[in-house]
Amino acid sequence: MENLSLKYMKRRTRNKGINTVWKLVETEKKWEIEKISIGERAYVSNGIRQIFRFPLYIIEGVRYHLGGSLFAPKPRMVQFPVCDRCNAKCIMCNRWQKETKTEISIEKIREVFSNSLFSQVEDVNLHGGEPTLRKDLAEICKIIQGSCPKMKRMWISTNGFGPRRIEKRIQETLKILDFKKLDFLEINVSIDGLEETHDKIRGVNGGFKQSIETIQILKRLEKSHPIKVSIGTVIQPLNLYEIDEIEKFAEDLGVSVIFQPLMFDEFFNIQDKRNLMFSEYDKEELKRLIDRKFVKGSLTTNFYWCDFLSMTNGAKRKSPCPFDRYVFSLYPTGEVLPCSREDWIVFGNVYDEPVDRIWYGQKAEEIRQRMRKEVCPTCSSYCGVEFSLQKEFFKYLRFYLKRRIFHLFHR
Ligand code: SF4
Ligand code: SF4
Repeated sequence: MENLSLKYMKRRTRNKGINTVWKLVETEKKWEIEKISIGERAYVSNGIRQIFRFPLYIIEGVRYHLGGSLFAPKPRMVQFPVCDRCNAKCIMCNRWQKETKTEISIEKIREVFSNSLFSQVEDVNLHGGEPTLRKDLAEICKIIQGSCPKMKRMWISTNGFGPRRIEKRIQETLKILDFKKLDFLEINVSIDGLEETHDKIRGVNGGFKQSIETIQILKRLEKSHPIKVSIGTVIQPLNLYEIDEIEKFAEDLGVSVIFQPLMFDEFFNIQDKRNLMFSEYDKEELKRLIDRKFVKGSLTTNFYWCDFLSMTNGAKRKSPCPFDRYVFSLYPTGEVLPCSREDWIVFGNVYDEPVDRIWYGQKAEEIRQRMRKEVCPTCSSYCGVEFSLQKEFFKYLRFYLKRRIFHLFHR
């Protein structure tokens, strides 16, 4: 019976003609039935759909693998930092210091996404800078949905600063998106520590209070809209010893947390790394944390963090990453790239040539080949790991079986 506390039971009621979903909660050995929000319902339904799609993963895994090794397939995921502008001053990023010379116009976005290149896109991630600083964010979402007929999931990442503005942008987006075609919209708010730590990392006094207000506003919206609110935390030396508290705090707010390790790429602040370098003592704590917490998580988290641990000991990356072949990133400058690990990783610019010519061009192919040899083996990026489960099914299956066999002999 214990497992039932984690399960959701769906009941159809005739009340006002809507479906009502109920959550079964165990409270001090009594069973209580509690109504769950529309956002939670959308998320749970998506999880159930994923289970039924499971057999398709095998077919998709073969197709994905063969396609990716033979030719450049159409992108399956879009990463779009819609602007460089940002109202935070994070210690691990220097985007806010960049002078934005150009910011891709709505007309250009419309033109780019009118290309049939996006017909296979399933996931879209909008971020920045701070994406809600763009007044036309809802319009951008609409354009993307119009050109990605297979899009099932959309993410918007925000730093949470400016609760009223963020609420306005999300309300506009909710009005404009067609939720019959979308499984859910996830809004991820950055929380990098408890109050003092968060404000120090994000460089904004009072920033923590604003982010919490944003989460509370979004949680209210979640009750009546198919959105999911989550927290994103970048694990770094300043918050390394607060991870348990962050998790507990998120639980109290009723949101899940996505943890990822700090990475250094072209956007990270290279002038002042004092607070960003893990000491030997920190590294030991990080290992203990991974062992204690993350390697017991879902299959993807488990795979990634085990791999991350061995990378800290000098091993090469084994976690699948869809970014080189399947992820289309469009930058506010108009540049098209798979990921931002190195300056030279730029396929082209949509202001200079059509987007499909850039994607299938010789330069893009040469960059992909070079990345695989020079950059990917030592890259610790977490991005796209969840997405890759559905595609690189066999790698995960092998990992899972290996671990089962290991546990069998080490009981
Ligand atoms: S990490 Fe994000 S929120 Fe922080 S300064 Fe960079 S773009 Fe802004
Ligand atoms: S460099 Fe990193 S993020 Fe980019 S494709 Fe390779 S593994 Fe993925």
